[in-house]
Amino acid sequence: MIILQNVFLNDKVCNILIDKNKIVKISDTINVPTDEVIDCTDKAIFPSFCNTHTHASMMFLRGIGEDKNLFDWLNQDIFPREAKLKPEHIYSLSRYALLEMIKTGTTCFTDMYFHVPETIKAVNEMGIRAVIPYPGMDFFDENEAENRIQLATKYLDEPSPNSRIKKALYCHAIYTCSEKLICAFSDLAKKYDTYLQIHVSETQKEVDDCIQKYGCRPVELLYQWGIMGPQTLFAHAVHLNDNELRLVKKTGTVLAHCPTSNLKLGSGQMSLQKYLDTGVKLTLGTDGVASNNSLSMISEMKLAALSAKNKADSVLAGKVEDIFQVATQNGFNGFGINAGTIEEGKLADFILVDMNNQFLLPNNNLKSNMIYAADSSCITDVFCDGKPVMRNKLILRENEIISDFKNVCADLLKQDLPTL
Ligand SMILES: [Zn+2]
Repeated sequence: MIILQNVFLNDKVCNILIDKNKIVKISDTINVPTDEVIDCTDKAIFPSFCNTHTHASMMFLRGIGEDKNLFDWLNQDIFPREAKLKPEHIYSLSRYALLEMIKTGTTCFTDMYFHVPETIKAVNEMGIRAVIPYPGMDFFDENEAENRIQLATKYLDEPSPNSRIKKALYCHAIYTCSEKLICAFSDLAKKYDTYLQIHVSETQKEVDDCIQKYGCRPVELLYQWGIMGPQTLFAHAVHLNDNELRLVKKTGTVLAHCPTSNLKLGSGQMSLQKYLDTGVKLTLGTDGVASNNSLSMISEMKLAALSAKNKADSVLAGKVEDIFQVATQNGFNGFGINAGTIEEGKLADFILVDMNNQFLLPNNNLKSNMIYAADSSCITDVFCDGKPVMRNKLILRENEIISDFKNVCADLLKQDLPTL
């Protein structure tokens, strides 16, 4: 058992008892024998963040292919370089991504990449949570669809190494995956009681192409195919009309908002406030660093708030409480994880922040400071599942993780494309 002593929570100082992986008591005084008492004087506690859309291993692509639209960026800069990745690269790239996530206060993420056992190995070692989906992309090749379905089944049949890691499935998008693959993956996800993710309506071009090919909009198509539901996550979902929003709400489908990536790739701006007012399950993701260019959920919250106000032309859009909830509680809820708030009975996933950090003073509104002023320098400690993954700003094996990452980048980028 651990006691967090004199920690600042919701505008007052209290003590918090953690037993195994849960917050069991929040009180003015706690008098029980414990393994450790952590002095939290001048520190505040917040729930950690849940990043519901990223591509962790894209770390080596940070800064490559700047100032291009989504389709040019993918086809000219990303897909050709990703083709050179080997499984051993993924482990090093994932570990480095997890380092950045932990430093910026994230203890749960969901990925979309390949060579997934390597990412699972990295998550297992680094001690945070993840939903790791098996990749689905067949480029409309029937044999490849069959192959993917068989491999995905095998992946789901093998148990996850621990309760922090959930196995799931993803299909890249309706423009890279056939109906056969998407529907089969959806059926598999239901059979194994797990999650299915897919990029949906990221750009207006995707919507226009879908109407031309299938005679309806992307969300309408996926609704007809029967893949929507509370265990389906649509990443981006920028260009949804009223009928599509109604279908999302009706089915309980979860949406991952990625404001930085959407703006940077010129994909468009989601009407965050309209989505929240409709009552859909909205969560927040960074997307990969190749289109962000960081994995910081703090930065993502700020842009989500500002772009919501801009899109709605109203200061009432993207309020502090709503944005914080989208980045924390809504994400964990989306994956059925009992975390995202600091309450008795919740899983002990949290961050401690230094209230004397220059970005957090004065403390007129700490949550607003976290969204609009903070950066990772404010975070001193990160706990996941009741265990520290960062203590006093230190992460285990940090130097080794960094030098390993630098070696992998040098190896991958030295054989770079002739166009560079
Ligand atoms: Zn993505």
